[in-house]
Amino acid sequence: MTKTIPSESVLSALKPEEKNIYEEVVRTTLAMFHEDYEYEETAIETKVNELLFYTKGRVEVKKGWKSLFNEKEGKKEDAPVLPAVQKNDTTCSKLAIKEGFTKPPQPYTEGGLISMMKTAGKLVEDEADSDILKEVEGIGTEATRSGIIETIKKNGYIEVKKNIVSVTEKGIILCEAIEGNLLSSPSMTAKWESYLRKIGEGKGSQENFLKNIKKFLNATIDEAPKKLETESLAVVVQNQVDTQTAGTCPICKDGQMVDRKKLYGCSNYKNGCTFTIFKVISGKKLTQKNVKDLLEKQATGKLKGFKSKAGKPFDASLIVKDKKVTFSF
Ligand SMILES: [Zn+2]
Repeated sequence: MTKTIPSESVLSALKPEEKNIYEEVVRTTLAMFHEDYEYEETAIETKVNELLFYTKGRVEVKKGWKSLFNEKEGKKEDAPVLPAVQKNDTTCSKLAIKEGFTKPPQPYTEGGLISMMKTAGKLVEDEADSDILKEVEGIGTEATRSGIIETIKKNGYIEVKKNIVSVTEKGIILCEAIEGNLLSSPSMTAKWESYLRKIGEGKGSQENFLKNIKKFLNATIDEAPKKLETESLAVVVQNQVDTQTAGTCPICKDGQMVDRKKLYGCSNYKNGCTFTIFKVISGKKLTQKNVKDLLEKQATGKLKGFKSKAGKPFDASLIVKDKKVTFSF
């Protein structure tokens, strides 16, 4: 920093902040040449009713470079000073129950997901697979990982709100559909990597690799729908359907009234049912209750707040007539 040692008068002219910095620099520099800090570490094992308890403590032997710094007392990192004990000493133990709360695991952030993909090998039980994953740095590469997450997001399997990642109902369906399948395990990456290596060593062929992937994918496609029939999944699927449809079509009594942004339309339109309910009719936004009434009773109660084309407000109820929603005065 400087070769000049400041004189007493220069030092006293420094502002307190400047002086602090100067002293810190001097202290740190001196500490580099000071003696080692020495301590003894003690570990005590205490047996209480055949249960072993471990205590670790530290006893300072020589302050060394630490003497240059004013240590605040009771700093957390300092291990407690333990009493001098001999082997096989007996002691009185005071037992107390400590009550506490555990916290649920922190939800993932996008950054957390990326590092989790990198270290996916830790989650794999098979040692060989785990080793390969460690070598290839998990799932994806530095260049592709965020793109993979983007794709999952875009397809609606996960949602990110305030940087917190959560799995959507659709994501849960996907997870349950491939549960237990190799596709759901980081091991798949390991298995593929190890075969790619074989190809590199001339012990395997590209043809064989692709053939097996094709076989695997076909089997998965066959298997997934069967899985979707399980009961727990049926509930999730039903929830998903419930949130997206307003109810059963009152005309064909078969299709579902699917949410299509500006309107609810019958899912049976391919078979000729064109029943629709617009969400806004003559300037009035329908409530969920209005739509439900239309579907279940083919009529709403008297509603206020419609506006004619000329801008005149009017009241009316809505009814289903001739396969259409119309006013009833
Ligand atoms: Zn219909």
